[in-house]
Amino acid sequence: MPRVSRVTPEQLLAISRIRGSAAEAEQLRKMDAQRRSNASNIINPHEVKGDYDAGRLLMTTLNGEIRPITHEDLATFRKHVKSVGGRLKKGLTAQQIINLSRKEDRERANEQIHMAVPAGTNKGTVRFITNASKDSNVTRHHVSVELVNYEAAVASPTDPKKLAQWLVKESPLKYDCDCGRHTFWYRYITTIGGFNAGRPENGYPKLKNPNLAGVACKHVLRVMHELSKNMNIRNVIAEMIDRGQRGAAKNNGVITQKKAAEIAKMQKARKREISASDIKKPSKALTKLAAKKNNKGASKRPVDSEQALFDAQRNLRKLLQSGLISQADFNVLVKANR
Ligand SMILES: [Zn+2]
Repeated sequence: MPRVSRVTPEQLLAISRIRGSAAEAEQLRKMDAQRRSNASNIINPHEVKGDYDAGRLLMTTLNGEIRPITHEDLATFRKHVKSVGGRLKKGLTAQQIINLSRKEDRERANEQIHMAVPAGTNKGTVRFITNASKDSNVTRHHVSVELVNYEAAVASPTDPKKLAQWLVKESPLKYDCDCGRHTFWYRYITTIGGFNAGRPENGYPKLKNPNLAGVACKHVLRVMHELSKNMNIRNVIAEMIDRGQRGAAKNNGVITQKKAAEIAKMQKARKREISASDIKKPSKALTKLAAKKNNKGASKRPVDSEQALFDAQRNLRKLLQSGLISQADFNVLVKANR
């Protein structure tokens, strides 16, 4: 479905205003933390475990209608937690986040969210601004993305542009959005999956998302799409890696308003469709490792594949050393290569 964009150039400029955006995002984080600490209807992890007093009369929408939570519901919640934890613990790439999203969120992103502009970078974290939908009571949203393997990239002597591509296409990401959909539907999922970049949420979404379906709101989806496909954004990340590799003491990069406006304008004109098309595709890094395994004993192999393999092994070792992957993950990945 083609995206419908009703944003004027003036509005576009207001949405992509960089100055003050970090303070605005911080203010929203504080308001969210305040709201959370005042909430009285949160179901705690020990209650989901079974230590639940029915007298609390907490409600759920599991199986449709809104009704008080039963001990049977708690068993279902535990089953969902186990399933999500098992599936998502290894971290998700941008495309995997899109693939695991709900169709309705992708449709909303395609119809309503056309802009995801980087507003600042700092040591592996990129702060984005997206437009809000026209029905929203705010004009924009703040999404932050943590490039999980950033430190490994900085430690590598490889060209920053190549590393930027590796970070945005093949490496796991953590994320956060200030919107209600992320807060009440998905923050719990990103928390138990270990890829939450903001305030963790340990209260099961018993009302909004009792089946723990989906992983990302329309703003995060637009960001993931642009992050993995937009060359301008990749260049911003390459610059951040370059600063890191040079050992710059101050690694927070400022995006100029001119650049932000340029990116926003281009995004509006190009209307990129988000689709969950690559569901069965294994990651390139793993494909390279598997290729090495299949070629064992073969005398000829393209030189670039050797190099890619060497890079992948080195990166894996760094990930292990920096604690970003476990020894078990490392063993599995390196074994695929023997
Ligand atoms: Zn959002």
